Amino acid sequence: MSDPQSAPRYVGRFAPSPSGVLHFGSLIAALGSYLHARSQQGRWLVRIDDLDPPREIPGSADSILATLDRFGLHWDGEIVWQSTRHDAYRAALEILRQQDLIYYCTCTRQRISQLGGTYDGHCRDIALGAENAAIRLRQVRPVYRFADDFQGQLHATAALAEEDFIVRRRDGLFAYNLAVVVDDHYQGVNHIVRGADLIEPTVRQISLYQHLGYPQPGYLHLPLAVNANGDKLSKQNHAPALPEGDPRPVLLKALQFLGQTVPENWQDLPLDLLLCWATEHWMPAQMPRQDAKAPADLSSAFSK
Ligand code: GLU
Ligand code: ZN
Repeated sequence: MSDPQSAPRYVGRFAPSPSGVLHFGSLIAALGSYLHARSQQGRWLVRIDDLDPPREIPGSADSILATLDRFGLHWDGEIVWQSTRHDAYRAALEILRQQDLIYYCTCTRQRISQLGGTYDGHCRDIALGAENAAIRLRQVRPVYRFADDFQGQLHATAALAEEDFIVRRRDGLFAYNLAVVVDDHYQGVNHIVRGADLIEPTVRQISLYQHLGYPQPGYLHLPLAVNANGDKLSKQNHAPALPEGDPRPVLLKALQFLGQTVPENWQDLPLDLLLCWATEHWMPAQMPRQDAKAPADLSSAFSK
């Protein structure tokens, strides 16, 4: 019989990349993960995914953190910065290497696009050296589906599930999928709540949990905020920064976007009480169901 006292405490997180300011789309991910964690008396961590210096905008990490603070989204514990975690990523690659689960690959992007975009395992057994090579996972535990706490069962195509994906890039940078799994495990994150734009890499991440022998977290992918053209809000399509001043009207919009009821007397509620109210009334089942093509299609590699 399970003792509720011994059930592991919920640990969630928000993990922005410092590639621009916090806009409405990333506020949704921050707020949804915050409310979901707090409504389960969980911890809510913040990690800065500064894994890719060329794509970083100087000052944006500080600006994101200041904006979270201004919106009353206070995190627990110390912030983890991916730029300080290279030894851990190297150690994870070493664990994979010892099991012969990684190999060097020198295939060009052009070759792979000629194949139709999916890598064919060309370099798997030819023992290339490190020079000018990416490192790929030998995919021996493909994951074809996972249960999402909001979206339901999601299925990946065989091509996506079975591909030997990159864990360290040719330029020497560690790949997002590797870093995110190593860090979420390190931070004890057991529930990942993030935008539906990250549904696609999830099966790869779950397979990495399995290859590395880590317990698998739960997943909940939030509806995605899109602009009038149906594109995901991102800095690439110039999503505007959140307005200065009273954060409550923007918070209200974000709650409404997430399908939540908002208190009629919100004008009388200070920010912290408004967030408490939202936590107590958090109903993820009320979130809008997006059809597959509305949010820049949830990903063409996925079906229900
Ligand atoms: N840092 C990633 C991003 O901003 C998100 C990581 C994640 O939630 O898994 O897109
Ligand atoms: Zn190759």
